[in-house]
Amino acid sequence: MNRHRYGPYRTPTEIYDHFRCLMEMSPGSREFVTGHSVRGRPVRSWRFGADDGAPAVLFAAGCHAIEFIGVEQCAAVAGRLVKERARLLEETAVWFMPVINPDGHYSVRDRLRRHRVPLVKTNANRVDLNRNFPVGFYEPHRGIMAGSHRKTINYHGPAPLSEPESKAFVELVDMSNPALAMQLHSFGGSFIFPPCHHRGETPDHETFMRLGEQMAALQKQDRYSVASVAQGMYSTYGDIDDWLYYERGVLAYTLEIGRFGLKSAPPWSWWNIFMWTNPRDVAAALDNNTDACLRLVEAAAGGVAAKSRSGG
Ligand SMILES: [Zn+2]
Repeated sequence: MNRHRYGPYRTPTEIYDHFRCLMEMSPGSREFVTGHSVRGRPVRSWRFGADDGAPAVLFAAGCHAIEFIGVEQCAAVAGRLVKERARLLEETAVWFMPVINPDGHYSVRDRLRRHRVPLVKTNANRVDLNRNFPVGFYEPHRGIMAGSHRKTINYHGPAPLSEPESKAFVELVDMSNPALAMQLHSFGGSFIFPPCHHRGETPDHETFMRLGEQMAALQKQDRYSVASVAQGMYSTYGDIDDWLYYERGVLAYTLEIGRFGLKSAPPWSWWNIFMWTNPRDVAAALDNNTDACLRLVEAAAGGVAAKSRSGG
């Protein structure tokens, strides 16, 4: 990986070391392996904070391989939480899965190194893990981003949860039982939430909007939009967020970090889709979003949960 050309994006191994350093500062924290990738790499996660029974929040990244900024954002949220906001950990459990798709991540690095187009979103079976979940999986799909087209980068796989990385994520959700969750992706400049597979509204639409606006208000320079996936972007089927919400009662957001940044990019980078997907100024992007992400932990501590959980 050419750091000068592609920015200070760390390898999964370096990210894992970061989490292990944080563990030393946070008593009771634990590391888990809930599964292995197609190529046999461990899918790792960490828990910081209160013991079982406290409201839990889950941050996950690295699902779409090329979106390296999400992995860094996940690490940044954990860092600020442990180093500066540790009091939140007295009343919440905060879980992190920073690299859901390690095979894809290394494939992107390999392609960058060999000067090949690093357009890798999928796992090693060429499945988009964010289309591989059960809700809406078998609905008639519309559009090239929907998932049923085998030759596209959004292929949903042969069956729901067919992929080992998806199973590793489900295992983590079973263990952590989060009330709130956030997936970290790029780009789009938005906080998006279910429903993903149709244009209606969930019973928790007002909560999703209110908490989304609260997160956006904490952004430093660039304030993102807030909308359901289907209203703000395009419909997706088999999306992780729909599964988290409809089957597990989790208030699940996706943060689409950054914007299509060619205007500010140097001409040598225009050919490179890695540069479209990941901001050049990593520190500024992380600083813009970290406090916003931590609002989710504050909300969990304050008892915010989906109506299906609270019985309301
Ligand atoms: Zn993505």
